[in-house]
Amino acid sequence: MYAYGPVPSRRFGRSVGVSPIPDKTCSYSCVYCQLGRTRHLTVRRQSFFKREEILRDIEKVVHANEGKIDFITFVGDGEPTLSLDLGFLIRTCKEKFPYRTAVITNGSLFWQEDVRNDLLEADVVNVTMAVSNEQAFHRMHRPHPGIHFKQVQQGILDFASVYKGEIWVEIMLVDTVNTDTESMQALETQIDAIHPARTFVMVPTRPPAEPWVHIPPPEIVMNALSIFGGKNITQPEKGAFGLDEFSSASEAIIETSRRHPLRLSQARTIEAYFADRTLDHLLSAGKLKVVDYQGHKYVLPSEFVFGK
Ligand code: SF4
Repeated sequence: MYAYGPVPSRRFGRSVGVSPIPDKTCSYSCVYCQLGRTRHLTVRRQSFFKREEILRDIEKVVHANEGKIDFITFVGDGEPTLSLDLGFLIRTCKEKFPYRTAVITNGSLFWQEDVRNDLLEADVVNVTMAVSNEQAFHRMHRPHPGIHFKQVQQGILDFASVYKGEIWVEIMLVDTVNTDTESMQALETQIDAIHPARTFVMVPTRPPAEPWVHIPPPEIVMNALSIFGGKNITQPEKGAFGLDEFSSASEAIIETSRRHPLRLSQARTIEAYFADRTLDHLLSAGKLKVVDYQGHKYVLPSEFVFGK
């Protein structure tokens, strides 16, 4: 299943997610990643799947949810610009559907001209800019050895200089990694240079890849908001998940938890929707685990949970 949702998104409203890449395939292995550690660390762009099949999946989800969609969002279970089909998929969605398109990307491959060209027709490109120096870059993102901080910065600048859509910048704050005032001020200067339409200050509200990752204390978040301005999306999203395309509670819970943080209470709501008490079985079979994070219980695929 390449397309799913709509899921409630803090930035994109009711968002049909599209993943054109295999599970956890990424150029980074961020310490805060909600998908766990990267299993396939790569910078090589590929056509991972048949593009027509991805498109068919998008059509199915869009047609089942006409009028209930704000964005078609290319997000991937990793880094979507690794897909060589991304440009084709964005262009075709723009031709076929009346909905805005967005790409959520870490920006690490923007130094490649073909990546920049693939994104030009998207309405919104939401790019990560979380660190202002090489040391924090490695600590935070643990990039593929072929990726260099200066190169990433320049690639984002080059893209911003030609892109006609909206650039949104996502700043993820991880306590003690990128939260000192001097680093945040330096980052703000770098963000200013690309003139983003929106800036989002985020914290790891969802269970992260590494157990040592923590949300900064409120005074640090306030300091960040005063430096970066922008919208504070440090609270978890609320809203209903699109369940129409699933045929059973177990399919809905597994697929949703792979792509979206799912609280235990939300998983119980999905069970009730299908009138199918399957969650306890999935937990006892070891397919899912319950993880305590920030005072809430989340249901995660077992392979997402490391070292806890
Ligand atoms: S947070 Fe995004 S960029 Fe970082 S490892 Fe996860 S999928 Fe990749």
